[in-house]
Amino acid sequence: MRDVAVVGLGPSGMTAALYLTRSKLDILCFEKTSPGGQIVMTDNIENYPGFPEGISGYKLAELFKKQLQNYPVEIKSEEVISIEKKDNLIVKTSFFDYEVLSVIVSTGAYPRRLGIKGEDVFIGRGVSYCATCDANFFKGKRVAVLGGGDSAIEEAIFLSKFVEKLYLIHRRDRLRAVGVLQDKILALTNVEFVLDSAIEEIGGDSKVNFIQVKNLKTADSKRIDLDGVFIFAGYTPNTQFLKEFLQLDSEGYIIAADSFKTSIEGVFTAGDVRSSSLKQVISASGEGAHAAVKVSKYLDKIKGVSYD
Ligand code: NAP
Repeated sequence: MRDVAVVGLGPSGMTAALYLTRSKLDILCFEKTSPGGQIVMTDNIENYPGFPEGISGYKLAELFKKQLQNYPVEIKSEEVISIEKKDNLIVKTSFFDYEVLSVIVSTGAYPRRLGIKGEDVFIGRGVSYCATCDANFFKGKRVAVLGGGDSAIEEAIFLSKFVEKLYLIHRRDRLRAVGVLQDKILALTNVEFVLDSAIEEIGGDSKVNFIQVKNLKTADSKRIDLDGVFIFAGYTPNTQFLKEFLQLDSEGYIIAADSFKTSIEGVFTAGDVRSSSLKQVISASGEGAHAAVKVSKYLDKIKGVSYD
């Protein structure tokens, strides 16, 4: 029996694990791929304090990981498929059941698919959700970026350094992204804005070679010939495995009060997977620290060793 299971090792999970291990709690972490989470797909993070020149998401994740390695933290490369509450909590993976006193769910979110005609067919053949991963394949080519939020604009700025031409397609007449990003993209000469518009179809043969774009105000539809489509239309939380267990909001994010407590006693949550979280690296880390302190106090209480 362990004190805490941390499920998901992005910035919130890694920070929670750091705080928990420093409290000398017996923790077990689960990460189905490699620790880091979504930030490893971000080219440059400019708003994480302490890095005035910015830092690549991959490097920041490596630093988080290195810091965690200073402590005896056990990481299982197993996907958690469900959590159950019996006398204690049971964390189930495809291989084993693990009994723990408490859990922090910090599973984050993954890029949202839109269900555009052709989107599924061309994933990996021109349709991408990660500019940092795929920009190199589009050197000197023409691509579209869909979305007007921070992710879309940040990734479009990065992609613009590789491609000949970039179409920024957004369903409104203005962008959602923060002002500094808007200033940067507006200054680029190879970006064409296609506003008030939606992609109706992504088409091609073995690879993407066109999109059909509809103007939502005039209903005019036009074809744009290009080689790739990058979609940044928000995120879907990684909570499929918790549907029957925790209270989720209408989009699937975990409902938890500011104390990071979920609807099940002993289960806490932190980071992007929490409903109404800010969805920034700095706040995800802060939530991880905060949830870890809450868990420590919860465990002290149930073990009868509260320092009050
Ligand atoms: P987001 O802010 O939710 O933006 C998603 C974009 O996709 C919006 O422009 C939205 O349009 C558009 N969209 C959503 N559904 C669509 C659909 N069905 N068809 C067409 N367009 C659609 O998501 P995000 O940019 O991924 O950012 C997520 C969170 O992470 C945000 O809180 C953001 O601030 C944060 N973030 C921060 C940074 C940073 O600080 N540097 C970087 C990345 C992300 P509407 O605007 O019309 O809704």
